[in-house]
Amino acid sequence: MTSSGDRVAVVGAGIAGLSVAHALVAARPDLHVTLYEGSPAVGGKLRAGEVGGMTVDLGADSMLNRRPEGVALAGAVGLGADVVHPATSSAGIWTRGALRPLPPTLMGIPADLGALARSGILTSSGLGRASLERRLPEPDLSEDEGVGVLMMRRLGRDVRDRLVEPLLGGVYAGRSDEISLHAALPQVVSAIRTHGGLLSAARASRAHTRTPAGVDELPVFAGIRGGLARLAHKTADQLERQGVRVECNAMVRELTRGPGGWRLAVGPTNRLRQVEVDAVVLAAPAPASARLLREAAPVAAGELSRIEYASLALVTMAVRASDVGTDLVGSGFLVPPVDGRVIKAATFSSYKWEWMRGNMVIIRCSIGRHRDERDLQRDDAELVDAAVSDLREATGLRGPLQDAIVTRWGGALPQYAVGHLDRVQLIEHSVEALPGLAICGAALGGVGIPAVIANAQRAATRVIAQLGAVETMKP
Ligand SMILES: Cc1cc2nc3c(=O)[nH]c(=O)nc-3n(C[C@H](O)[C@H](O)[C@H](O)COP(=O)(O)OP(=O)(O)OC[C@H]3O[C@@H](n4cnc5c(N)ncnc54)[C@H](O)[C@@H]3O)c2cc1C
Repeated sequence: MTSSGDRVAVVGAGIAGLSVAHALVAARPDLHVTLYEGSPAVGGKLRAGEVGGMTVDLGADSMLNRRPEGVALAGAVGLGADVVHPATSSAGIWTRGALRPLPPTLMGIPADLGALARSGILTSSGLGRASLERRLPEPDLSEDEGVGVLMMRRLGRDVRDRLVEPLLGGVYAGRSDEISLHAALPQVVSAIRTHGGLLSAARASRAHTRTPAGVDELPVFAGIRGGLARLAHKTADQLERQGVRVECNAMVRELTRGPGGWRLAVGPTNRLRQVEVDAVVLAAPAPASARLLREAAPVAAGELSRIEYASLALVTMAVRASDVGTDLVGSGFLVPPVDGRVIKAATFSSYKWEWMRGNMVIIRCSIGRHRDERDLQRDDAELVDAAVSDLREATGLRGPLQDAIVTRWGGALPQYAVGHLDRVQLIEHSVEALPGLAICGAALGGVGIPAVIANAQRAATRVIAQLGAVETMKP
């Protein structure tokens, strides 16, 4: 038996917090759910802005389509008809002085050595070194280690630096040697175990994702017409219609155990108010959750505070279609850090998304990665200049910019360091030991949007089970 009208507070209204609230009211419409968001708007890393007269995503712009949770949430909040897929899946690598086609890989592990040779991404000695992997005994993957460490040992430095580093950097803005193999690439680990080697796993993954006719079965990514930020706003709108209170500018500053539940201190420091609830779900980034858990769950707080974040900046610009160079093809390109450029990636947004086509071509460049944040010290104008200068050299872009906006994401992406899965287990055990408390968010169960949603749904399920358990204990 559960208690009608239990009060649940969700801290943070990024896609994690929104998904928690969505799952809570779907399962228990009688709950009184309040979402507390510290900033002026919901969405967290899902944020829109305007460049060249067009609404564009200034944070996440696509989600994995081969996991169901993101697209399912879009459908559930009325955006099913607006789910779109990239118009092109081809991408490039800007390395060794030229923009080169990215051959098929499994997170940087070459799936077709012939295509890799033709791309010119690797030197001939780098290619030779990579192909030796076929002769190595099966790798022992029982211990966690850095993704780049494994890749370098098996495939050589060139593959690590020019393929794995930029591809992994595109997801974590991190350093491949430090990113946990077990936490970041569990599917790759199981494919390697199944096929006995890295190259064979990559080759098999390619066969697996293609029909006999050689056509991709399912687009890898999906977006939302009008921008992925709409997913956050539509979810929040629907939650409000269902009776969820969504409070922005409502920073949660303290969390303590109260009589029969939890007490939150919410709002500006000079006007703090106390809120009593039966259960709390923390859906904020790790440093914020660590601060809130300092007293109630010191083990979780300690582990959360050890999760480091990469900061980055996005330069989103609009250029005239007639000024675009001939090398601007596909959805964009990645840049291996070893090449020493300022930009780490460029997305040709107007080529990637049909809904963004118009008189202007929208291009966005990302700058900065974990512990390599020198470039982020530059002011906005300098960042724009640096991005444009790299783009001119890489793609032959001409003419003046029509518009540009710099978005700085401090604490953008959590770094899944070696041992991350053990850390997450400690955090979850420490939090779950406390009745009416759950935690989720990108720091724990995956940084991609579908993984964040899945993790949030699990947190909602746990809280609902606990509310039931609390009630059954009552006389
Ligand atoms: C530039 C960029 C591009 C990305 N691109 C993609 C992509 O294309 N595809 C993809 O799958 N993933 C992408 N990601 C990753 C993905 O967007 C994030 O992992 C995900 O959105 C994180 O969601 P979240 O809810 O866990 O955290 P957040 O989005 O960070 O939300 C947390 C919220 O909590 C609030 N908050 C913090 N402290 C408090 C407090 N004390 N009280 C109340 N509120 C608080 C914050 O203001 C914030 O709104 C990208 C990330 C970045 C930074």
